[in-house]
Amino acid sequence: MKNIYSMPRLELEDFFLSIGEKKFKAIQVYEWLYQHREPNVENWSNIKKEIREKIKQNFDFCMPKIIKRETDELTEKYLIELNDKEHVEAVLMRHDYGNSVCVSSQVGCNMGCAFCESGRLKKIRNLETYEMVCQILLIEELFSERISSVVIMGIGEPLDNYDNVINFIKIINDAKGISLGARHITLSTCGLIPKIQELMNLPLQINLAISLHASNNDLRTKLMGVNKMYNIHALIDTIRTYIDKTNRRVTIEYVMLKKINDEEKNAIELANLLKGMNVYVNLIPYNETNHLEFKKSDKSQIMKFYDTLKKNKINVTIRKEFGSKISAACGQLRSKEVEK
Ligand code: SAH
Repeated sequence: MKNIYSMPRLELEDFFLSIGEKKFKAIQVYEWLYQHREPNVENWSNIKKEIREKIKQNFDFCMPKIIKRETDELTEKYLIELNDKEHVEAVLMRHDYGNSVCVSSQVGCNMGCAFCESGRLKKIRNLETYEMVCQILLIEELFSERISSVVIMGIGEPLDNYDNVINFIKIINDAKGISLGARHITLSTCGLIPKIQELMNLPLQINLAISLHASNNDLRTKLMGVNKMYNIHALIDTIRTYIDKTNRRVTIEYVMLKKINDEEKNAIELANLLKGMNVYVNLIPYNETNHLEFKKSDKSQIMKFYDTLKKNKINVTIRKEFGSKISAACGQLRSKEVEK
């Protein structure tokens, strides 16, 4: 049985048509679920009993649970237990411009990035759409504040769970659903080229972020297993096409790893790779974890790297660090739980 929170509105309309009802019922259901946040069908007073019964017979309503919450000033990190007792994480970050949530898209990850804690634990399964939608609903309920932006940057590779992630985006973006503007939704990928090509043909105006993390092919292959399949030059070409086609600026994520990818020559190489493209580089201070050898670059090194990119006319920002006190490196909370 499908979970009700996995249903994009158009699919819900098809369901109502298939049982001989008007399709606007889907809007009413959306209003109950996402505006009134009323999961109890019995209370859906504008839908008659007979149809409520059909809804109950056809859809599952169960939700995951938040079982642990770690907080510091600007960050809250949640461990979420799924109905089969698997765990994922979500993180809430308070910015001056509003609250953003980082959601997970898979249980574990198979992309094999050497520096990443989430990928130490291999993929067990994809998240269903409702398991992503519920990360937002549960956090809003617990936190009792609205979320103004969503980044799909938690555990997992979203483009390796393409259909469910796209449905998730449709639901949170739907004006009758959670109604988050597409410009407030960011999908981050390690670079699965065929899926980036699919994405550029969808009429969704979301932000795309690419985890590049290296300035040349050899280095990227050492750091990111995915580069053996889709190399850095093919990836850059795909990003160019994406920008041409969508007219949207792409974010290039570059995690700063001490003495690995943070030297002057890397900055120059990176600037050459990205020359003339409508991108901006987001330098990410590495979040160290106990299990992996990588160290974060010194602040001064990050500043030098930043300056070199600037001098070479590349737009660049340094990502503000969140939650380094509370195991915020994605995957840390889950791997603690799994090890217990
Ligand atoms: N699989 C997707 C999204 C999840 S990872 C992707 O690769 O983009 C989200 C981002 O966090 C990626 O850029 C990833 O490389 C980065 N990341 C992973 N571990 C990190 C750590 N310990 N510190 C800082 N960034 C990290």
